[in-house]
Amino acid sequence: MNLFKITYWLALIAQIIIRAPIDKARKKEKIAEQRVTSQEKLLVSLLAVGGLLFPLIYSVTTWLNFANYTLPTWAGWVGVLLIILALIVFWRAHADLKTNWSPSLEIREKHELITDGIYSTIRHPMYASQWILVIAHPLLLQNWLAGWLNLVIFIFFYSLRVRAEEKMMIDTFGGQYRAYMQKTGAIFPKFN
Ligand code: SAH
Repeated sequence: MNLFKITYWLALIAQIIIRAPIDKARKKEKIAEQRVTSQEKLLVSLLAVGGLLFPLIYSVTTWLNFANYTLPTWAGWVGVLLIILALIVFWRAHADLKTNWSPSLEIREKHELITDGIYSTIRHPMYASQWILVIAHPLLLQNWLAGWLNLVIFIFFYSLRVRAEEKMMIDTFGGQYRAYMQKTGAIFPKFN
């Protein structure tokens, strides 16, 4: 396995490690509301296919070799740098959102609207980190299937998720969230 493929898998492990303590702690919190659509469930399953199944087949077999392409070495290194940036954003977002984080759309009984830390400039730093990751993948996994599927699926997931999430946050926090939206960017930081 080359260094760029290894980077892909290390990044995945790093995400699991960063998320694990928050995932454990959040399970103790009572859920007040959950909004999960079948469309979203399907997209989450597809993300697993794009993020795990195809990269795994590509990494350990030669079955997908027909769809390989080769980029100059520097492009792979740009991928590595993007992965590092994504992981920093991913870690910061978890550190600031704490147990308000959830894998699906949920509101806790004691949900707190977080507007500080990285959330003071971006509303969706975790999704921003996912954008950086899926842009890095085609540079690391140089294969039309293993490298690009994540990006294609994430475009659909992101459009659906952000709209539903912001609606849920407005329904829950009303004017407070609307005011917060004015002050922040969705995935690009907005500095006032
Ligand atoms: N969209 C955010 C959070 C993703 S986790 C990001 O990209 O960083 C999804 C959960 O986070 C949602 O179910 C919602 O309950 C919660 N959430 C999103 N923004 C929040 C905020 N500013 N404060 C508190 N909880 C938030």
